Amino acid sequence: MSRRVFAIRHGRRDAVRSEHFYGPSPPDPHDATMPMDYFVWAITGGDGPIVVDAGFRPETARRRGREVVADPIGVLARLGIAAAEVRDVVLTHLHYDHSGYLSAFPRARFWVQDDELAFWTGRHAGRGAIGQTVEPPDIVELVRLNFEGRVRFVDGDEEMAPGVSLHRVGGHAPGLQVVRVQTGGGPVVIASDAVHFYANLEEDRPFAIVHSLPDMYAAFDRVRALAGGDDARIVPGHDPLVLERHPPPRPDLAGLAAEIAVG
Ligand SMILES: [Zn+2]
Repeated sequence: MSRRVFAIRHGRRDAVRSEHFYGPSPPDPHDATMPMDYFVWAITGGDGPIVVDAGFRPETARRRGREVVADPIGVLARLGIAAAEVRDVVLTHLHYDHSGYLSAFPRARFWVQDDELAFWTGRHAGRGAIGQTVEPPDIVELVRLNFEGRVRFVDGDEEMAPGVSLHRVGGHAPGLQVVRVQTGGGPVVIASDAVHFYANLEEDRPFAIVHSLPDMYAAFDRVRALAGGDDARIVPGHDPLVLERHPPPRPDLAGLAAEIAVG
């Protein structure tokens, strides 16, 4: 079965390099601009499409100073994926920019790691800098969906469908998981926020928002191992270079979507 992987760019923000990396940076009067993109991903080619992550909604973007590039549900539709019919949505983690459109998938079950949802219903969820990384209504919505039997919990590693596997890595979020997809050209790893930018891997430098620093380094190693040691097979979670390194699936989707073409 040949799977295809698409990255859908729905938001962006301006930023500089020093914002993105953990720990003190040396003062740099020429701090380079380093914008950030926001994505959801889609996997096709099996019994039905799988959507990976649920983006943020426009009101969340506005409040947090993010720029909306596109409605991700609309871009999915242009790729032939009707959100209302999707049966499986993977939530790599529950930060605000990955959990906004749960209600756009009324027939889906949501695949999430035990550790992730447990953390966000637990003791430290609301604490200061931790609590700011999520939208409480999204967490509440997922808790409610669990009572409807629509949360599919994962503990560690699991093959969720032929050629599509989930792997808990943690580091940036307590139960962050990545998705490995066997495509016609070989494996592709949707790293989501295990790797925000290619530069995190290339420079071996963690992103600024950290749940566990050792786990974040271990996640770099795990993602690379899952990709067979080929960094070109890794899809970072927020890097504008994704759309430069991979072609749009159609010319009219340039700037909005890329097909992760490898092999
Ligand atoms: Zn993110």
